[in-house]
Amino acid sequence: MALIVEKYGGTSVGSVERINAVADKVVHSRNNGDEMVVVVSAMSGETNRLLGLAGDINPEADSREVDVLVSTGEQVTIALLSMALHRRGLDARSYTGGQVHIRTDNTHGRARIVEIDDARVRRDLRKGRVVVIAGFQGVDEEGNITTLGRGGSDTTAVAMAAALGADECRIYTDVDGVYTADPRIVPDARRMEQITFEEMLELSSLGAKVLQIRSVEFAGKYKVPLRVLSSFEEGPGTLITYEESKMEQPMISGIAHNADEAKITVRDIPDRPGIASKLLGPIADAHINVDMIIQNVGTDGNTDMTFTVPRSDLVASMELLQELAVELGAKEVVGDEGMAKISVVGVGMRSHSGVASKMFAALAGEGINIQLISTSEIKISVVVEEKYMELAIRTLHKAFNLSEAAAEQ
Ligand code: ADP
Ligand code: ASP
Ligand code: MG
Repeated sequence: MALIVEKYGGTSVGSVERINAVADKVVHSRNNGDEMVVVVSAMSGETNRLLGLAGDINPEADSREVDVLVSTGEQVTIALLSMALHRRGLDARSYTGGQVHIRTDNTHGRARIVEIDDARVRRDLRKGRVVVIAGFQGVDEEGNITTLGRGGSDTTAVAMAAALGADECRIYTDVDGVYTADPRIVPDARRMEQITFEEMLELSSLGAKVLQIRSVEFAGKYKVPLRVLSSFEEGPGTLITYEESKMEQPMISGIAHNADEAKITVRDIPDRPGIASKLLGPIADAHINVDMIIQNVGTDGNTDMTFTVPRSDLVASMELLQELAVELGAKEVVGDEGMAKISVVGVGMRSHSGVASKMFAALAGEGINIQLISTSEIKISVVVEEKYMELAIRTLHKAFNLSEAAAEQ
């Protein structure tokens, strides 16, 4: 008998028909004799609807109250799924995050899981019950409801699987696995049979929303056997692996994109030691995440500094920088919100050279101007104007032959 944690995302529980279909799948797994824990998201569109309501009432709504509100989306689906399971003759119980002691820190809106006391879940499993848990939520030390950030139900599922020592964690979604690029943008993207944990971590952190980054971090830390599958059709999905493959790896495994980028340039700032820290320190203090940074070689004792921030933080960053610019003697601060980051990822990059030049040549061939570049051992990212994003992704997918299986690349 195996212990399986299954997670169903928003589209997979987006209607009464879909919830019934999920219940049928759970019955099927249970009939195999497996112990089942099922984590569900809110019905698709519900979290956005609730956030919209909060914004209409108070654009600066208190984050504690926003969490009380948005966590209700998942409470609806756990109850409905349990009812559907009862109707199929299964003993099932639904629980909110707090009820199964998913303890988090108190950073409302993007809380981190600190610990899980799984005693209650284990008790139910021993009684033969299917345990249905609300994704995306927990409670802090004082019992306040918290949420784990967009896409956080993935993290609930993987963390639960880690706590329970589950035999497998299955993330059911609206695509049948992890692809070489977002299949909505690249029609001939290829599903991967398996992907290394390291690559999945990069793809998720660079924007591939098929798995929330924190779920991948958890999976790596506890070596959770993790698979991404479709809730709409049968198939093997994509397995996340932890072993270094002995086979030669392709140069590039996948492409990720993130359209949530804004670029800021501070022009003609006196080029003195400490200038970067004076500019970026206050931004960091405001909890704004600066991503790529370039400082140009100075002329006449002045220099330009360019960096990217999440688009939703552009206004706040500009306000901070306008003040600093005057203080530090810079000429002007220019913000541009229409940026996108595109990244190619592959562990094979370690043993292949020429990836960057191939990437830049392919983009140049389409007349796409690269604005910022950053590299690490297994990825290269570029920032381009957002209007070129889809073209850039398709161009790179083709240039690196990603629709062909690794052996043919
Ligand atoms: P769920 O609601 O089930 O959590 P998400 O919308 O969060 O689903 O994630 C699934 C989506 O992720 C897919 O519909 C797809 O558009 C997108 N996606 C982005 N990059 C990839 C990729 N490399 N492979 C598969 N899906 C991807
Ligand atoms: N319902 C939440 C969201 O839309 C969490 C999730 O679906 O994973 O982000
Ligand atoms: Mg998701």
